[in-house]
Amino acid sequence: MAEIAFIGLGNMGGGMASNLVKAGHRVRAFDLNPAAVAHLATKGAHPTGSLAEAVSGADAVVTMLPAGQHVRKVYTGEDGVLAHASAKAVLMDCSTIDVESAADVGKIATVQGFAFVDAPVSGGMAAADAGTLTFMVGGPEAAFAKAEPFLGDMGKAVIRAGDAGAGQAAKICNNMLLAIHMIGTCEAMNMAIRLGLDPQNFFDIASKASGQNWSLTSYCPVPGIVPAAPSNRDYQPGFAAPMMLKDLMLAMEAARTADAHTPLGAHAAEIYQRFVDMGGDRLDFSGVIKMIAGENLV
Ligand code: NAD
Repeated sequence: MAEIAFIGLGNMGGGMASNLVKAGHRVRAFDLNPAAVAHLATKGAHPTGSLAEAVSGADAVVTMLPAGQHVRKVYTGEDGVLAHASAKAVLMDCSTIDVESAADVGKIATVQGFAFVDAPVSGGMAAADAGTLTFMVGGPEAAFAKAEPFLGDMGKAVIRAGDAGAGQAAKICNNMLLAIHMIGTCEAMNMAIRLGLDPQNFFDIASKASGQNWSLTSYCPVPGIVPAAPSNRDYQPGFAAPMMLKDLMLAMEAARTADAHTPLGAHAAEIYQRFVDMGGDRLDFSGVIKMIAGENLV
């Protein structure tokens, strides 16, 4: 059993912190939103009133925050994690943020003697609640070894991608690929329907042919085929379209920095920007099939 500070108890962090409680740890919960802290207390976590109170003396710190600026502030700010954590603590940032912020915070923490990893996740709220996330981890090997057992309590796979920032790099490459194959799946499904094919029949064929991919077989954008897919609940998220757009923007920023040629990634970002602007902002990212099919979004 370890003392773990968990900062950021939103859609994802709430489930992840609950799984650390279930694994037998003593979880100190902190969020700027007191309702989120109170909710975690009902799951067996110990509520705290400040970042300093949560972090001081803890064996491990997990953060699950919206974006790079929040992570920079929470770790390196005057009253932040690095100012209050004990030297033995392992620090894990599981947020999805830009590679540069992740690498910067990782380097600052490592120079100060902390074991720090960036450990973004794949899998949405359902996987966070079920403890079946996949973690992609960046940081020194020794820090990874310290973080792995805690991340394992919240996920089904924990894979080191390289040094500081590498977890975020793997995450945005993965999500750029996801966006591209989701759009491709939507275009193929929509065209199949317009050509007079039965969508279930086309699914049966493509899922056993070379068009097979995760967006088709696990998250089918056409309703009535994959029961757990958001298409069956009017595209309620799931993985909200603005979140996908955020990840594509991070991917495009990283592609510029790395001088990587990503024309399909850029086109996917344009398509999701249009989808969000047209009213898809409340929908799951698989709802982009409605825009492709020319349906009304609002
Ligand atoms: P969320 O907005 O529901 O939760 C973020 C929480 O952080 C909020 O409760 C907020 O109050 C808290 N917070 C913000 N600043 C804080 C601070 N300074 N101190 C303490 N708490 C603070 O977001 P989410 O959906 O849980 O996503 C969190 C991260 O996980 C994001 O980076 C997102 O991109 C990533 N992610 C989300 C999903 C998903 O499906 N929702 C999937 C994979 C990854």
